[in-house]
Amino acid sequence: MEKVILVRYAEIHLKGLNRPFFERLLVDRIKQALNPVHPSVEREQGRIFIYGISEEQIPECTDKLCRVFGIHSVSVASCVEKTWDAIRDAAIAETRPHAESETTFKCFARRSDKRFPMTSEEIYRELGHELLIAFPNLRVDVHHPKLPVTVEIRQNSAFVYTGEILGAGGMPVGSNGKAMLLISGGIDSPVAGYMIAKRGVMLDAVHFYSYPYTSERARDKVIELTKLVSRYAGRINLYLVPFTDIQMTIYDKCPSTETTVLMRRLMMKIAERIAKETGSQALITGESIGQVASQTIESLCVTDDAVSMPVFRPLIGFDKEEIVEKAQRIGTFETSILPYEDCCTVFVPKHPVTKPKVDKLRESEALVDFEPMIQKAIENTERMNIS
Ligand code: ATP
Ligand code: MG
Repeated sequence: MEKVILVRYAEIHLKGLNRPFFERLLVDRIKQALNPVHPSVEREQGRIFIYGISEEQIPECTDKLCRVFGIHSVSVASCVEKTWDAIRDAAIAETRPHAESETTFKCFARRSDKRFPMTSEEIYRELGHELLIAFPNLRVDVHHPKLPVTVEIRQNSAFVYTGEILGAGGMPVGSNGKAMLLISGGIDSPVAGYMIAKRGVMLDAVHFYSYPYTSERARDKVIELTKLVSRYAGRINLYLVPFTDIQMTIYDKCPSTETTVLMRRLMMKIAERIAKETGSQALITGESIGQVASQTIESLCVTDDAVSMPVFRPLIGFDKEEIVEKAQRIGTFETSILPYEDCCTVFVPKHPVTKPKVDKLRESEALVDFEPMIQKAIENTERMNIS
């Protein structure tokens, strides 16, 4: 019996005339996610069907599909001829692995091919009857069945499956432009990138490192985190910016209480330049109000003042605990807590300003001509293609 993966869309049905565009994009994203497996992926009446995946490959493929944004849920179905006998046999085969324990079930039927000689109601009633005969320890529960058994009669075949696996939701990556994620080695920024990518935004990422104050291992950790985000967001260009000169200069020449905020401003400026050159329309950070001195409202205003691009901060209203929970769920947490240093944590002032003023910070920044250093940092930026 041929196995097929049946994919339900998330929000795409809302998109009216743009729907074909979203559907095509989702099909592309599905194919990329399943690579190197190359199944046939077909759209049909508000569903996507994936054919030609072997039984052994199915668990890995469904796992990957559950990370593709735009997918509401997937079911692994038996695809059979549209005859009652074939449908009944498939339903029995699909139910068997779940029928050993005493459990409750309910049959559902959907008939989009009205030529099929039984109505939906006749199908699910008859099927329920057959399953009760085949598995005497099953019981019907129409309100809270543990095992839903569904039959869909479509144009060319019938599909029979039990249950569905929830996907990541959101919209297909690339349906909503591109943005530049400022990624550190911490817990927050990978989650921030995940959340914006989920809304259909393609990601690039930029990381600032201060070799030799930050190590090779810290850099590898960021590369690894970017890889973990790309399991959802697809291909990401990661820009690695050498930041030591700028950081040392700030440390030498600017008021010590302001070093962190100044560093944040310069990071944003460089990120914005690279973003503009490479087609990103916004910046993304993992900041949340009040989490640390550089994330008070005043500090965020001062940081924003350094750039003209919109800055997306999807974690702005989240508690650390909520962010940690998300990081665990998407699988970045364990890597994020590896102990390597970040350039933000190498030179932390003892008494950072918590209410910096925009004018004052502009003045402090003007104490040094950063422009040549910014240009040099961008020139020496290394680009990696992460997927
Ligand atoms: P994270 O957990 O993401 O490191 P954080 O709570 O440690 O965040 P900060 O260190 O103040 O907060 O950084 C705030 C944000 O600035 C980060 O979420 C990230 O978007 C960006 N950022 C910090 N350090 C770097 C870096 N070295 N390279 C790129 N972006 C950075
Ligand atoms: Mg950090």
